[in-house]
Amino acid sequence: MVTVDRPGRLLIGGTWRSGQDEKTFEIIEPATSEVMATAAVASPADVDAAVRAARGAFEGGAWSEAPASARAKVLYRIAELIRSEADQLATLEARNAGKPIRDARDEVLGAAQCFEYYAGAATRIFGETIPVSAPGLDFTLREPVGVVALIVPWNFPLTIASWKVAPALAAGNAAILKPASYTPLTALELGRIALEAGLPEGVLNVITGPGSTTGNALAGHPGVDKIAFTGETLTGVSILQQAAPNITRVSLELGGKSPNIIFADADLEKAAPAAVNSVFGNAGQDCCARSRAFVHRSIAEEFDQRVAAGARKLTMGDPLDARTEIGPLISMKQRERVQGYIQVGRQEGARLLAGGSAPGGHLAAGSFLEPTVFDRAENGMRIAQEEIFGPVLTIIPFADEDEVLRLVNDTPYGLSGSIWTRDIGRALRMARGVKTGVLSINSSRSVHQEAPFGGYKRSGIGRELGMHALQLYTEVKNVFVSLE
Ligand code: NDP
Repeated sequence: MVTVDRPGRLLIGGTWRSGQDEKTFEIIEPATSEVMATAAVASPADVDAAVRAARGAFEGGAWSEAPASARAKVLYRIAELIRSEADQLATLEARNAGKPIRDARDEVLGAAQCFEYYAGAATRIFGETIPVSAPGLDFTLREPVGVVALIVPWNFPLTIASWKVAPALAAGNAAILKPASYTPLTALELGRIALEAGLPEGVLNVITGPGSTTGNALAGHPGVDKIAFTGETLTGVSILQQAAPNITRVSLELGGKSPNIIFADADLEKAAPAAVNSVFGNAGQDCCARSRAFVHRSIAEEFDQRVAAGARKLTMGDPLDARTEIGPLISMKQRERVQGYIQVGRQEGARLLAGGSAPGGHLAAGSFLEPTVFDRAENGMRIAQEEIFGPVLTIIPFADEDEVLRLVNDTPYGLSGSIWTRDIGRALRMARGVKTGVLSINSSRSVHQEAPFGGYKRSGIGRELGMHALQLYTEVKNVFVSLE
């Protein structure tokens, strides 16, 4: 049973409790700007209680020392429960994050798939045997890190929580999940589901509260062995600083300004709609959004007009309406920020080809913003360099392969990107040259449950998903046995 009454409480040590100083904050529904729930503010004392609960659960061994197959069963059960509650969870996520219901449903099913994958992976965390020079047998053990702090953003709340919780638990760690303050609801439900699935108490704790206090106390806590963070690059810098005195291990999934490169021989029937979906999906609030399109000069006008027409056609509306393709931004504050960038784009001299305004009428109460396309832009413009995190596409023309590679890599970010061409040699030369952690050719898919995901440069440290994620949540111990 999914309810929105659970907020107001923290999950610590297997029990639901208020924050020690009884403070709460409101959760706003972005489509209506109305309060949909309240959540508890975890004080530094609550954070400390959560860390102690996780430590106790970890050292108690009921999870960390359980056979991997037993851990796998609980993770499968979590996946089953997520699937059985998919409709309610999707509705909650759609309302809380403002995302179209069909996307929310896909994300919930993706979260179930993530738990299934790591249920399977739990029994496949292998060590090595190493032919050392000394006379003996040398092998490695992969052990859980201990207490892990998982701090996640608001754009894909349940998805990104699952990307962290599932591998952390598969490896035998105890976790403290801190969701974003805009969107804590499905994380709290995940905490409930994990208990119902048989996860021992204290192995997954869920605490809510502002990043500046709750998040800070968690990231700087000496009892935390590892932090996995997804969010803004500048918050990532702060996390590294907070972790430094304790030498806490840190992995970071940060911002992006991902390129979409369209050569003259690309199949525009596919590339143009993909360009639209890859930047306006989730109202552009996607770290992998292909927010910079580089298009060959010879096809620029045709491509730009197709993309602008596609943007105008998107159905904006109530996230709970099955026809909706684009919902509101997460908040009025976020919309103002994005509108500021639209203003910057106009001042910088790019051509505004579509969108640019906030709709009125029945959508006026929500933080909606039209899908916006700028073309004839230059790579040095702020709209081409800074992560806008909203429904804004910047199109930049290019002349040849050398030029586009130089432009594409001229950014502090390196998360994702796409290359559209029918020339396999060119596609592979570009794939080698583009400095991002994730690339797709003739596609805009960045995320595959089974494959590594993460960024180069200021887009992050470490790789999530697939078997790579297990490296983030395990220590490697080398054991040498003398045979002399
Ligand atoms: P933020 O960095 O603002 O917040 C992310 C999380 O960190 C939230 O839970 C937040 O809490 C918490 N937090 C904020 N400040 C601190 C602090 N000083 N110490 C500890 N925790 C803190 O990001 P957003 O939520 O705004 O998410 C959007 C950003 O996330 C974008 O830049 C986007 O690119 C990036 N992102 C990256 C992805 C990737 O995989 N590379 C995927 C998805 C998003 P609170 O909400 O209470 O402020």
